Amino acid sequence: MSPLPPGTTIGIVGGGQLGRMLAQTARQHGYGVVVLTGGAKDTPAGLLADEEITGDFTDSAALNHFVNRVDVITWEFENVELQVADVAAAAGVPVRPSAAIIAAAQDRQLEKEALTAAGVRVAAWRPAATLGELRAAVEALGTPVIAKAARFGYDGKGQVRIDTPAEADAAWETLDHQRVVVESVVHFERELSVIVARGVDGTIGDHGVMENDHVDHILDLTVTPADVNDETAKAARAVAHATALALDLVGVLCVELFDTPDGILVNEIAPRPHNSGHCTIEAAAAGQFEQQLRAITGMPLGDGSCRPAAMAQLLGDLWTDGAPDFGRVLAEPDVHLHLYGKGEARPGRKMGHLTCVGDDRTQVRQRVGDVRAALTGR
Ligand code: AMP
Repeated sequence: MSPLPPGTTIGIVGGGQLGRMLAQTARQHGYGVVVLTGGAKDTPAGLLADEEITGDFTDSAALNHFVNRVDVITWEFENVELQVADVAAAAGVPVRPSAAIIAAAQDRQLEKEALTAAGVRVAAWRPAATLGELRAAVEALGTPVIAKAARFGYDGKGQVRIDTPAEADAAWETLDHQRVVVESVVHFERELSVIVARGVDGTIGDHGVMENDHVDHILDLTVTPADVNDETAKAARAVAHATALALDLVGVLCVELFDTPDGILVNEIAPRPHNSGHCTIEAAAAGQFEQQLRAITGMPLGDGSCRPAAMAQLLGDLWTDGAPDFGRVLAEPDVHLHLYGKGEARPGRKMGHLTCVGDDRTQVRQRVGDVRAALTGR
């Protein structure tokens, strides 16, 4: 299929901030944008689109309307029903990445199976669909373990840590008897991620290795390059590339990793741009959203290599005493402000982020943290 040039239209499944930043890039490059939100109105992505379709992801009229409006479909969120892919296939509209990759990413068991089949290492794990299987998994793996709901989990939601075998029953109740994946707690030195883009022609690129700090299971701060030696960086990138190849990715994939004394393990994958890649917007000639646009349209990938940069997430908690004083950010020449256009600020809700680009990873990490702290320092 020939490349889709500017003037054609990108269909985005999901209306969140990742779709918004793709829409911004698509607009810059002269593409049209249509967003399918699954129900919500005036979404971060929809507000920047030519059209925001608010139908449900299973509503065939909405799906047909969406598919007929666009030239290629991509995802900004993987926890969605996948009927849109069937409607697109019937209409001959390409879906990139494929629905098979999305299906693997939305079920932790399928994901672990796909990763294992790809030959990449993950933490020791067992599936469990009943309380008996959960108890047996805890027994087999040895505590501590984390039981994670197999489907629709993110940011630590649907996860319970089990420190002694006696806690298995309570965890089963907390998780509402859902099918789970049970995995050993990994004693990692740091969390890393690598964001890979792969084009229609199989060309592959990445943005180097990101180092991620989480607070309450939510990504709080990313720094690139990660503070790891060349060997670890090479291994992290190799694991991410191998994962992308094994899944036959077309588009962008974030591979989240644990750096352990015993080597690199994959935690999970996200078949789309990722918040650990937000700093690439300013740090690379072609950031993660531009690579996504280039990959899904069959255009050549750009140069994703990054200058040292750091990203600090702005969560709704910062709005507790009213909107932060954004003048404090705009007064800083080396810090970039991104707000996602979300109306209501709730604790834990991702409202925006700050990026600082510089010459040194330690300095940019310090700067972006200081500027975020100053936002509410009134
Ligand atoms: P997840 O939703 O699986 O990405 O988990 C969110 C966060 O929980 C990760 O970024 C880690 O900080 C932590 N976590 C998840 N799985 C494990 C594990 N097996 N061992 C240790 N920490 C984990």
